[in-house]
Amino acid sequence: DSLFFNLPSTPADEPFAVNGAYIQDTDPQKVNLGIGVYRTANGSPWPLRVVADAEKQLHQASDVNRHEYLTIQGDKKFLKLAANLVFEFENPENTSLASGESEDKDRVVSIQTVSGTGANRLGAELLARHIRPGCVWIPDPTWGNHHTIWDLAGVERKNYPYYDNNLKKFDFEGTIRTLSESANKNDIVILHACAHNPTGADPTKEQWKSIAELCQAKGLIPFFDLAYQGFASGNLEQDAWSIRHFFNFTPRLEFCVAQSFSKNFGLYGQRVGALHVVNSTGCTETSQKLLANLCHLVRGEYSMAPRGGSEIVRTVLGNRKLKSKWFEDLMTMSGRILEMRKALYDELIRLQTPGGWSHILTQIGMFTYVGLSEKQVHEIRSRHHIYMLKSGRISISGLNESNVKYVAQGIDDVVR
Ligand code: PLP
Repeated sequence: DSLFFNLPSTPADEPFAVNGAYIQDTDPQKVNLGIGVYRTANGSPWPLRVVADAEKQLHQASDVNRHEYLTIQGDKKFLKLAANLVFEFENPENTSLASGESEDKDRVVSIQTVSGTGANRLGAELLARHIRPGCVWIPDPTWGNHHTIWDLAGVERKNYPYYDNNLKKFDFEGTIRTLSESANKNDIVILHACAHNPTGADPTKEQWKSIAELCQAKGLIPFFDLAYQGFASGNLEQDAWSIRHFFNFTPRLEFCVAQSFSKNFGLYGQRVGALHVVNSTGCTETSQKLLANLCHLVRGEYSMAPRGGSEIVRTVLGNRKLKSKWFEDLMTMSGRILEMRKALYDELIRLQTPGGWSHILTQIGMFTYVGLSEKQVHEIRSRHHIYMLKSGRISISGLNESNVKYVAQGIDDVVR
C-alpha cells in the first residue's frame, strides 16, 4: 500500500467545483453565476486595456534584469505604490502628527505576497506564531478560504453573525454584541474592507466607527481583507474608507491588511498582492523586526512572490497617464456590474416575483446574496442550468443583456 493511501479526504472548494460543473454542462442556455471573476457583456474575460498598455511597455524594454530574482520582501517600488493606494500617505489631511509621533508611512511594514490569498495566509502565520491569539473571529458567512487559511495556521476559529437574513443587510447589533461579550484581548477579527464576499452587504461609515472603537476598547487585532478596492464602487478612496479610518484612529490601532490586485487589475492568474502590517509606534526597531520575521516566513515557504504581475501594477500606478486610464477601466467594470444589478432587479419587479428584491440594488461589489434557499439553488441549476453557490450567492458579473431575463425567469420559477 502507498504511504498516502490513508490520507484524509478534503472538502472540495465550492466556487471551483461549481465552475467545473458549469463547464461540463452542455445546455446552450447555461449561465455561470458561481465563480467570482469579471466578465464582459459578451460573457468573456476582460484583460484591462491599461494592463495591455503596461505589458507592451514592459516587452519593449530591453531590461536584462527582467527575469532576475526579486528580493525576499518583493519589489520595493511596487510595495510603496501598493501601500499608498490603501493608506494614501500623500493626502495632506493624514499628516497631523503630535510631537514625537512617527510619520504615518513608518507605521506600515509591507511585503509582496502571492496575491490576496497569500497575504491572508502570511498574516495568519505571523500572528499565529508570534502573537498567539486566543482565537480568530470570522464573519458568518465569509469567503470560504478564510476558514481554510486560519485552520492551517492552527488558530481556533469562532464566528460572529455578519448577515441579517430578514433585513438582508449587515447584522451590526449581532456583530457588536458577540464581540463585546465574547472576544478577548489579542483575538483577531476578520473584516472585509469593502464589498463583503459573499453577501455584498457592508457596514455604514458610522458602523465602521463603532467597530474601530470596539477593537480599540477590547484590544482586538483587526485583519482587513481588501480584495475589491476600486472594483466595488469604482472609487478607490471610498472602497478603502474603512481601513483609512482605522489607520487614523486615536489611540492608534495595530492591524493587518491583505491586499489583492486580482479583481481590480484583472490579473487573477498572475498572483499580485501585498500584506501590510500596521504597528502603533512606527519605531524603527519594531518595523525592522516585523519585516525580518515576515521575510523569514516567506523565505522558508517560497522565497519571494512572482514578479510578472507586480511589474504590470507598478508600471500603471507609477505613471500618471496609465493610472487615469486604470480609473476608467475600474469605472467600466464597476459600472457594468451596477447596470446588471439594476437590470436583474427591474426584471424581477416586472415579473412580480414574490419577495423583496431591493437588496440587489443596495448590496455592493461582485456578489449578492440573492435570497434563494439551498433547495431553490438546486432547482434553478437542474431546471434552468443556472449555476450559483448553495448559499444563493450570485456573481453579478456573470449577468449580461442576453441572459439577465432568462436568469430572472429562473429565479421567478423557483421561488413561486
Ligand atoms: N479575499 C476575498 C474576500 C476574496 O473574495 C478573494 C477572491 O475571491 C480573495 C481574498 C483573494 O483572491 P486572490 O488570492 O486571487 O487575490
